[in-house]
Amino acid sequence: MKINQNFDSLVPNYLFAEIAKRTGKYIEEHPDKKVIKLGIGDVTLPLAPVVVDALKKGADELGVKETFKGYPDYEGYAFVREAVANYYASFGVAVDKDEIFISDGAKSDTGNIGDIFSADNVVLVTDPVYPVYVDSNIMAGRKIVIAPSTEENGFCAMPDESVHADIIYLCSPNNPTGSAYSADQLKVWIDYALKNDAIILYDCAYEAFITDDCPRSIFAVEGARQCAIEFCSLSKTAGFTGTRCGYTVIPKELERDGHNIYKLWYRREATKFNGVSYPVQCAAAAVFSEEGQKQIKENLDYYKENAKIIASALDELGIYYTGGKNSPYIWLRCPNGMGSWEFFDYLLENAQVVGTPGEGFGDCGKGYFRLTSFGDRDNTIEAVERIKKLLSK
Ligand code: PLP
Repeated sequence: MKINQNFDSLVPNYLFAEIAKRTGKYIEEHPDKKVIKLGIGDVTLPLAPVVVDALKKGADELGVKETFKGYPDYEGYAFVREAVANYYASFGVAVDKDEIFISDGAKSDTGNIGDIFSADNVVLVTDPVYPVYVDSNIMAGRKIVIAPSTEENGFCAMPDESVHADIIYLCSPNNPTGSAYSADQLKVWIDYALKNDAIILYDCAYEAFITDDCPRSIFAVEGARQCAIEFCSLSKTAGFTGTRCGYTVIPKELERDGHNIYKLWYRREATKFNGVSYPVQCAAAAVFSEEGQKQIKENLDYYKENAKIIASALDELGIYYTGGKNSPYIWLRCPNGMGSWEFFDYLLENAQVVGTPGEGFGDCGKGYFRLTSFGDRDNTIEAVERIKKLLSK
């Protein structure tokens, strides 16, 4: 018996364990100090009331013989897929309900989509990167190439025409850099993908944070239906990190290597996935209702305002950053040439603020640092005041 040897090639990810270790040690040694965490990637506000009502109603229906439900459809109930299709239409993107799969989140689908692709495809990721794209492809034994995101390109990596890739992961608005692609930039990626006969795996888990004219879906850009699969999530949009629901869109006409991609993914889902629970799908549909959209906007506005508060402080300090707009993340250059971990320690020891060292997301993150807007408003304001005081010295 042999295990999948590719697991030996995974680089241990110590990032969040190391952050917890250093923070825990500081708190133990300084019990009188109030430490504020601006590193969290999880939401903190509760589900919207209309969502909770739908969850309860769905659960009640399961307790009554006449309305009881067994296994759901593999691709999700039609009423949720229709709600998602109408949501796309609300920002001008035409997606058919029969091109949508309701999932238990974007992490699973961005990680599992590789099942339908051969192990000898070359995978391109932008660096810094959401680690799931890298690790899931290392597990499958695929070769990975990097497109660097840097200050020169505003942390919006663009393709190098001399490099071939078969599978391209793009994330916009990006975790961790908070930067978002314009339609023109996405068109360059689409043209590159079509030239390479590649598929773009487009993660727009943070599309609800977009406030300017950056596309909320890659399908808003011409040519995407011939080369892209889109993954989205209700985790950050509507606080579903614990409730678990997302959706994946595969255009019906998308073909590669003589195969229809929608049909392959359907077959994969029918084999390995039995769908999202009925109450959660009811809750997801409630998110897309008129009242649901109104209620989730309140939470989104709260996080967006936090992001603005952090970004304004960096403007005042003259520190380079991306994100803050279109994103709950603020990605900043560590001041005075400090390394990511050096700045982590400096901020913890002198301002009692915890963030995330950028180098945990890839080599291009060295010397950068991520702050998030998912915290409490008063704590965010206090943390920002402390940072301003410390860095304006
Ligand atoms: N994609 C990106 C870029 C993320 O940052 C995250 C969560 O942090 C996810 C996907 C995970 O989404 P979900 O909770 O739907 O699995």
